[in-house]
Amino acid sequence: MKLRRELLTAEMIDPGTGQPVRTTIEVRFDPLTGHSSRILPERGLMPANDFDLEAFARESQPRCPFCPDRIDRLTPRLAARIHPDGRIVCGEAVLFANLHPYSSHSSVSVYSPRLHYLPLGEITQRLLADNLATQVAFTKAVMAAEPQSRWASINANHMLPSGSSLFHPHLQGIVDSQPTTLQRLLADVPPQRFDAYLDAERRSGERYLGDTGRIQWLVSFAPIAPAELRAFATGISSPAELDDDLIGELAHGLGLALGAYAEMGFESFNCSIYGAPPGTEGYPLNLRLACRSNLTPFYRSDSTFLERLHWEGAVDLAPESVARQIGDRFAR
Ligand SMILES: [Zn+2]
Repeated sequence: MKLRRELLTAEMIDPGTGQPVRTTIEVRFDPLTGHSSRILPERGLMPANDFDLEAFARESQPRCPFCPDRIDRLTPRLAARIHPDGRIVCGEAVLFANLHPYSSHSSVSVYSPRLHYLPLGEITQRLLADNLATQVAFTKAVMAAEPQSRWASINANHMLPSGSSLFHPHLQGIVDSQPTTLQRLLADVPPQRFDAYLDAERRSGERYLGDTGRIQWLVSFAPIAPAELRAFATGISSPAELDDDLIGELAHGLGLALGAYAEMGFESFNCSIYGAPPGTEGYPLNLRLACRSNLTPFYRSDSTFLERLHWEGAVDLAPESVARQIGDRFAR
């Protein structure tokens, strides 16, 4: 597979020197869905900052419904036919129904009621694995109760810039009879295209980060969002098929990725694990993970008319530079 890219040139007259200046923009095409993406010259669109997250956490904590004194009282329980206990607990993680559902089955799961403040550098593999385990159990429970709900995803809006309305870190699950647009597009990709993409990335090595056993990680060739990583687990197609070993492996990879984000100065991210119906032949369960702008008053959103209305990523962090910054942390 040849990864497709086209170079565009913009010309303008420099306001200082009066001389013509040229800028190169690279348009790349995602090998799976065909979405295009623009790689811009680096100009500091995603600055790190010294915003005091811990102080902001203290400010928001007294009203937080996910903190220990309030979670039992203020969060909705799952319907009894989905789970008799109304909540799913694994380690410190607690899953409950989403008060603002996006689908027929929407869940929220906190890493821990006690962790109102959880910077990226402190999310451990244990916390990730337990939280993922609650989402996997939720997915299985919904699918057992309602066989037509075959499309599952596990997602994260982490910190306000990512779309999270609550500060307290959590994951969100969707299990539904309807796929999202991206789930549908990905499920329509022929299986050999996934293999060819992973093959091409492994051979080039420029963006390939490594495999952690059964899961391969790489930096997106044509990212939708800044510092976007992708991971592919072959042999399973739905979060419902994640066993404890794979949950641990996925948590390990996510922990490495979030640790790298923290070192790069990022604190907000989105993640989606895109499930197809269980048993979908040749579809690898796969995820996208991407940074969002850092929280600060009057921050610039990284999501512009291009991303929202053209479905076109525009990033000034070249994927190859992101791969270099992540380095060999995924190499076993
Ligand atoms: Zn809280």
